[in-house]
Amino acid sequence: MKVLKFGGTSVRDFERISRVADIVRSAAKESPVAVVVSALGGITDQLLAAATASLDGEEEFVQICDIMQSRHEEVVAQIEDADDREALLATVGECIGELKMILAGVSLVHECSPRTRDKVLSVGERLSSQLVAAVLRQKGTPAQACDARALVVTDRAFGSAAVELETTYARVREHFADARDLQVVTGFLAATPEGETTTLGRGGSDYTASLLGAALEAESIEIWTDVDGVQSADPRRVEGAFSLDQLSYDELLELSHFGAKVVYPPTVHPARKAAIPLVIKNTLNPTFPGTRVVEAADASEHIVRGISSISRIALVRLEGDGMMGIPGTAGRLFRTLADGGINVILISQASSEHSICIAVDPERAGEARTLVHREFDRERDIGLIDDLIVDENLSIVAVVGSDMNDRPGISGRLFDALGRAGINVRAIAQGSSELNISLAVSADDETLTLRTLHDAFFAETRRHLFLLGVGGVGSALLEQLRQTDVFAGWSLSGVANSRRMSLDRGRLDRTTWSPALIDPSEPPDTSEPADLEALASFILTTPGRRIVIDCTASDELVPLYARLLEGGVSVASANKKPFAGAQSDWDRLVAAQATGGGRTYYESTVGAGLPVVRTLQDLVVTGDRLEQVEGLFSGTLGFLTYRLRGGAAFSEALKEAHDLGYTEPDPREDLSGMDVLRKLLILARLGGARLEPDDVALDPLLPAGDWWDLELDELWRRLPDVDAGIAERVAEAAARSRSLTFLARWNEDSATVTVDDVAADHPAASAVESENLFAFTTARYRDRALVIRGPGAGAQVTAAGVFADLVHAAAEGGRS
Ligand code: ADP
Ligand code: ASP
Ligand code: MG
Repeated sequence: MKVLKFGGTSVRDFERISRVADIVRSAAKESPVAVVVSALGGITDQLLAAATASLDGEEEFVQICDIMQSRHEEVVAQIEDADDREALLATVGECIGELKMILAGVSLVHECSPRTRDKVLSVGERLSSQLVAAVLRQKGTPAQACDARALVVTDRAFGSAAVELETTYARVREHFADARDLQVVTGFLAATPEGETTTLGRGGSDYTASLLGAALEAESIEIWTDVDGVQSADPRRVEGAFSLDQLSYDELLELSHFGAKVVYPPTVHPARKAAIPLVIKNTLNPTFPGTRVVEAADASEHIVRGISSISRIALVRLEGDGMMGIPGTAGRLFRTLADGGINVILISQASSEHSICIAVDPERAGEARTLVHREFDRERDIGLIDDLIVDENLSIVAVVGSDMNDRPGISGRLFDALGRAGINVRAIAQGSSELNISLAVSADDETLTLRTLHDAFFAETRRHLFLLGVGGVGSALLEQLRQTDVFAGWSLSGVANSRRMSLDRGRLDRTTWSPALIDPSEPPDTSEPADLEALASFILTTPGRRIVIDCTASDELVPLYARLLEGGVSVASANKKPFAGAQSDWDRLVAAQATGGGRTYYESTVGAGLPVVRTLQDLVVTGDRLEQVEGLFSGTLGFLTYRLRGGAAFSEALKEAHDLGYTEPDPREDLSGMDVLRKLLILARLGGARLEPDDVALDPLLPAGDWWDLELDELWRRLPDVDAGIAERVAEAAARSRSLTFLARWNEDSATVTVDDVAADHPAASAVESENLFAFTTARYRDRALVIRGPGAGAQVTAAGVFADLVHAAAEGGRS
């Protein structure tokens, strides 16, 4: 038997409930299951809001009820079986009708007791369980909603009732012994022995699941929510938080006690007592293993497991010169608070006993003050004890990990990090088990404290991208990255072009993946003048996994690459130049990878998004030998010759290619044949050849001239001058039934990049538009070459090639 609990986020609407049903059905194939559900996401909050509105005598509660009614009806509308649908509609109508009556009563008498409030809150789970059961039935699983008020028995502490375990377990067992259909149980709800509705405290559905699990001796209790299990910190507040695969019950208890809302703290007890693992899983990512909580979790690579926080607390300080002399002060203080039902979240006492500091819910702080003043009335009169000092605007941040106890230096690291961030600690407490260190800080500093400590303890797990070059390809890449969540766990920690750069020095919003980061006119301006040296040392001193993306066309980056690779940083590059310069530069990059552990990825330097580089690498690494590579390596020149063959004038075809984004920013790079030459060098070198750029015989498409001396607009004006000459070459080839094309070839005898004409049956003759073609003749592919062809130009496909490189780099390259 397994118990599966689905939280409000998992049952928000029909689509989510449908996922839930699929998860349940697939679990039910393995073993029997019991399901526990929360109210539809947000409904409990709305019920509370309705109760408050009616208490204030506002008619708004009626609207809130209507909104809730339609949310449930929207789900019901998706139920295909007419009988089921009608019955559900009636149930929703009845429940909301009853709710409105209660609330109308509240608004009349201006009173909403905790008992009434629990009745109001019960509507959420009573309805959601019916809906989930109906969707399960629709998918073919006989299922029945079960009201936990018949199972879970509590005292009369409405709002947060205490469970009578034995009676509850007995009732649960009895109910499940008779149940034939799959049971969809209302979480959160319970009842007194007399049958009055109670609730188990906000987030209490988790607890219901644990109670059921313990009663039924389940093999596991799965808490399904909207995140990948318990994370090192609340992912909504701390970017870079990551999922924990294991936790001990103790650690989960500490994290949840100190605010990690993902599991309601009382949940731990029944599971632990029955030695049942709690598994926290993600409904939106069901195949992810999630977090397994057991008695003794495997040792982790991190000393600290997680960091959590409680947003609003009040710190209450009892102090006075005479306190040391008064026996039992602490005892009296705590008894007084306990008698007043005030929960103490944290205690810290200076060893001098001169002062005791405790954290409580700020809503109870005033009451605490009155109670304590009354208790110490006499001592205050004679000046032994001062008035209680209450400081309200505070938060508690807790650092949790059971391995902390035998490792020195944790608090040093903690205070050092807080000191550097300028965070003032108002109180600190460390349990004697050393499982947790908790700090009170100003509420304004809460998020900063979480992030600072997360960085201090887990920086090595942070993952950073740095983007150089934000032109066509760089911007397209950012857009592509933004549109998927493949790199969701990564930060964009730096962006630069040749003029400006923006580095994550604390002010950069790492989630804004936009070229605007280096635009000084876009507020908030985080940019500074570009400085390659400062950039390099910033990247190299950033802890964690790092990948640098080069979308520039700069030929000055080999020294930077070498330093990065030696520092364990991987480089994904769309820039050919670092790989196509002198042979000694290539050798330097190879050596840097071998010593430093960083790796280079440059699929899009050849054939844009086509899988050319990796295919050749795979051939070579598996023992094949490159004998010749030949083809049409330039989408631009391919496009040009294709258009020329179709009768277009050269200058017009070039302009068209430029406007389509097929050319380099400066089209002479293409026309000179240098771009093709670089690709040929890269492929030949990947095949093991050692050669210099000068070893390649180059016959460019442009006739000789002073082309490189011209400004760009002058170049565009003068280009039509060559149209006639080129048209003649095309016609000449056609007259011989051949096609003009632009071929690159390397083999052991020669390396050439030339305008050539090929026979009509040559693959290059049939290439259309901007198609690229690569034909590899190898020891294995000797009789017929291995050919890769397809569109090989354009910012989008090039960016997609870099994206693929990034995925590989993230999976395998570099080190922290
Ligand atoms: P459910 O509706 O499934 O019960 P909750 O909202 O109660 O979901 O709990 C899940 C939320 O808990 C997450 O969305 C996350 O924002 C928050 N949370 C806080 N701390 C943590 C943490 N350490 N790990 C995971 N989630 C956390
Ligand atoms: N619906 C209840 C709440 O929002 C119980 C739960 O979701 O666990 O607190
Ligand atoms: Mg919850």
